[in-house]
Amino acid sequence: MRIETDLKLGFKDVMIRPKRSTLKSRSEVSLNQNFKFLHSTANWTGIPIMAANMDTVGTFEMAAVLAKEKLFTAIHKHYTLEEWNSFLQTVNPDFYDYIAVSTGTGKEDFEKIGKIITANPQLKFICIDVANGYSEHFVQFLKQTRKQYPDKIIIAGNVVTGEMTEELLLAGADIVKVGIGPGSVCTTRVKTGVGYPQLSAIIECADAAHGLGGHIISDGGCSTPGDVAKAFGAGSDFVMLGGMLAGHTESGGELIEVKGEKFKQFYGMSSKTAMDKHAGGVAEYRASEGKTVQVPFKGDVIYTVLDILGGIRSTCTYVGASRLKELTKRTTFIRVSEQENQVFTK
Ligand code: 5GP
Repeated sequence: MRIETDLKLGFKDVMIRPKRSTLKSRSEVSLNQNFKFLHSTANWTGIPIMAANMDTVGTFEMAAVLAKEKLFTAIHKHYTLEEWNSFLQTVNPDFYDYIAVSTGTGKEDFEKIGKIITANPQLKFICIDVANGYSEHFVQFLKQTRKQYPDKIIIAGNVVTGEMTEELLLAGADIVKVGIGPGSVCTTRVKTGVGYPQLSAIIECADAAHGLGGHIISDGGCSTPGDVAKAFGAGSDFVMLGGMLAGHTESGGELIEVKGEKFKQFYGMSSKTAMDKHAGGVAEYRASEGKTVQVPFKGDVIYTVLDILGGIRSTCTYVGASRLKELTKRTTFIRVSEQENQVFTK
């Protein structure tokens, strides 16, 4: 046994210090980013915020709205080939820049994305998503996927440490997904004791990835636009959101009415609800590591998106970053007590 005593921080442990700025208004801030990737020769331009590949969030309906704003959706892996084909018939060519097809590491998953990509070769992004990106099997699957799809932009995760970020990049990932345990409906930290404070995970994984020419996604733990700004400030290239995009018209999950108030169901992808729906129940050898909640119905997602983008533009204005790209360089975090932060985020 060993104890690491270095301080590790989450979003709630810091705030961003304002800096002198020549910007007059948040309308002068550009959130568009342009990325080149480590393996794929494709370029990408857009606002690097993503809907999570959860069946309550990463829906085709969500993607249709987000893509118009140049935001990204990792489409969940439970759509059939027929559903993919009929949906993609309706989209314009730009749309392919803003969606990923998602897969786990099973043989059936690999065959399924093979069919989806063969039928829709314009798809550019593949998201390989497992709860624990530290397994040898996962790395082998990533290598196999890279070999099969040399031109695609491959997202792989989740991990939380620099050395594993490097390993995934060297095994073929263009973008590494970072986050174990911070998710709003995740119970991994409670059920297993495993996890890593998200802000530190971003700082350490971004440093490792950028050293190799790779990119990272901060996945999980953002519950306010301020958290999204902190994730970018810490060095994340993309930020993935689950809970903040749940509960909308375009989200999946059942709409429930209780005493005249509307709610939408939102659940973790390894919750009992998800496993009952997609895997015929929770296998005996495992515990569910996700919970099911009812979130107040929030209406159309576009208003939430505009609120998030407005918040980040304002962060950029406070620190003098005219482009999102400059936010990390202009960020100085100050440590605060959690209590202090809660007062300010109310
Ligand atoms: P949020 O934005 O809601 O805080 O976090 C979303 C992320 O939580 C997802 O992208 C995914 O990485 C993670 N997640 C989703 N479902 C589950 C689950 O059932 N268990 C765990 N451990 N993580 C989950």
